[in-house]
Amino acid sequence: MAIRNLRYDNDEILRKHSREIEVIDDKIKELAADMLETMHKWDGLGIAGPQVGVLKRIIVIDLYEEGMQFTLINPVIIKEKGKQEVEEGCLSFPNQFGKVIRPKEVVVEALDLDGKKVKLEAKDLLAQALCHEIDHLNGIVFTDKVEPGTLEVITPERKKEIQENRKNKNK
Ligand SMILES: [Zn+2]
Repeated sequence: MAIRNLRYDNDEILRKHSREIEVIDDKIKELAADMLETMHKWDGLGIAGPQVGVLKRIIVIDLYEEGMQFTLINPVIIKEKGKQEVEEGCLSFPNQFGKVIRPKEVVVEALDLDGKKVKLEAKDLLAQALCHEIDHLNGIVFTDKVEPGTLEVITPERKKEIQENRKNKNK
């Protein structure tokens, strides 16, 4: 496993559409492991292929709770319900946060790393994370969706505070 370089801000790869994965081979499995490690290094909750420079439809999410770690191949949102206003950030925009409206609940279909079909019924933070990461696969970043006037550039202390709030809310 290895830490991969993150892509930031105006890197044009973040604006590109990722391709479907046809074969889940060792290279994809290695990519998934590296993405997980890279995400953990930077305390992220999720990461998508383009953020490590790979235009493939793969996302990794870890909400740091039992049973809440996912690696999803070719994820698709098949249903969404309700709305939630959430504070959001992104590993590719390390010091920016803002309020975004996301669906309250989503149903996502994908493949796992064994190529098995999975269907996830998610709400709250997991729904938010899924929407955020799947947006990345379509070249969309959270700053595109941020509520006007809510985008803030923050200090490391404030960032910690937001992360703590999110963790507590999720308990
Ligand atoms: Zn992101």
